[in-house]
This record gives sequence, structure tokens and C-alpha cells, in this order.
Amino acid sequence: MQEEPPQKIRKINRSLVTRIEVVPILDPKLTCETVASTSFQALQLKSKKKLIIGRLKDLPESFQHLKRVGKDGSILISQTEETAKEIISDLNSAEARIENLITVQVPSIKPSTRRQFEFAKQLWPTGFHPNHELEQLLDDSFLTPTFKEYISHWVQETLDIDNGCVAVQNNTLLSIGRPSNHPLGHPVMEMVKNLPKRTGSDYLGTGSDVFLVYEPCAMCSMALVHFRVRRLFYVHDSKNGVLKEDGWQLHLEPSINHHYEVFRVKITEDPETNHSSNSYDSCKNSK
Ligand SMILES: [Zn+2]
Repeated sequence: MQEEPPQKIRKINRSLVTRIEVVPILDPKLTCETVASTSFQALQLKSKKKLIIGRLKDLPESFQHLKRVGKDGSILISQTEETAKEIISDLNSAEARIENLITVQVPSIKPSTRRQFEFAKQLWPTGFHPNHELEQLLDDSFLTPTFKEYISHWVQETLDIDNGCVAVQNNTLLSIGRPSNHPLGHPVMEMVKNLPKRTGSDYLGTGSDVFLVYEPCAMCSMALVHFRVRRLFYVHDSKNGVLKEDGWQLHLEPSINHHYEVFRVKITEDPETNHSSNSYDSCKNSK
């Protein structure tokens, strides 16, 4: 395997490209369309708004995403009523009166996505910095025809190996793995073992894409962290897999020092070409 010349995309498998659905597996915090809210004390003022705002301290760090003035013109003062009253007393202004304090609902965190922003700003004017890459994952525009062809090509290569693992760098085959009889001979571990020998870098897989028939187990998912994979594509969920939506989602684990994107590639069933065996459903299964 080591000395195998780079493989170019030979032909696009037209039947597969029309039959795949590519689903990014994202953090539930990002796919959620709402953000949590909390109550806050705001002051209604008839005049001297600018003057009063100028004398107020900045909002605490955790509320910096909030605009100071609401749609109704009221001004955020403090989260608790007690502190709000103290602040108003300290202002010692005829315009700022404790009896004009009202309770409002504000988003308690900064929105991460446009959908969350649309929700948050209904509550209270809120700051937002869109992440274009993330927005493309959320609205499916990431899946350009070229990208879809690329995915379907390498998924086909992976399905051709029984329970296989294929690593691709710059659209060129880097290494493949198939399960071995060794207890740790999972497809990913075998792929890493089959890597061409190189020197100078511990991170051989930097920027690579890895394709798998089955969702990887914890060991293989961690190996892919060390491998510095950029994106992982898998076809079937597996019993011992750790990436799927309602599972552990190891790729989102905050304590890990490298994160990769994960995509599930769903293939529309077609009995005539259903050559990817569904008779096993775990990361490691050498048949
Ligand atoms: Zn595994």
C-alpha cells in the first residue's frame, strides 16, 4: 500500500451521486433555533436618556451581547432588582426613578447562528457575528455539485472495501484500512498503520478527509483526532459509534485539542446495488 501511486478521480459514479444525502453532524447548541432567556431590570425614561446611559457602567462581561436600549426605549440596568435599585439611587437623578424600573426578558447568551439571532432579537436587541461556514452547513449550501461528486466518489471507493476506511489528502488517496484479526485492528487503526512512511511531521493526516463505512468507535475517533483529520464522512451509524447526534459526540468534546467536522452520508436504498453489507453494525467487525 505504501508505494501506491496517487489515484485521481477516474469517473464519477453517477448512480451514487444522485443517491446520497450528506448530513453534517453539528453541535445541538448550533442546530437549536432558540436561545435561553433570562429576566433583567430595565429603566423607562422620558428624557435625558443619553446623559443617564453615559453615567452607567458597562454591562457585565456575560451580557455584552445585549444592546443597552430596547425597542421600547427602556435601558438595561442590572440583572437583579436589588442592584438595579442601588444603581438608580447612586445616579441621584430626578429623571431616573426606582418606580420606573420594569422587568424585561433578554437572551442570556450570544446567538451563534442566524436563526438564533432572529429569535434573540425578538426578545431584545442583540449583537451577532455570523460565521459563514457554519451558516452554509445549516442551510445546506455547503453541498456544491463538485463537493457532492467528490464525496460520492470516495464513498464508492470506501464501500468497495468491506467495512473500509479511506484517507484522502488533496483529492489523492493517502491510505486505506480494512479490519484485521488483531483485537485493535479496526479500519481506522489499520489505515493509520498503512500510511506511507514520512519524516518531519507527527500529524500525517493534517487537512485530510477520512471516509468510513461505519461510524467509528471511541478508540478510532480519538485516533482521528491525533491524525488531525479535517473532515470525516461515514455511511452507517454503528452500535459502538460515538459521533451520532444523540450520542457522546466525541468530535465536539471541548477538552479535545483538535476538532474535525463529521458528516453522515446516507445512501438511498437500491436493492440492485446494495453491495455494502448491512449484516454487521459495529466499527470493528472483520468478517
Ligand atoms: Zn473502532
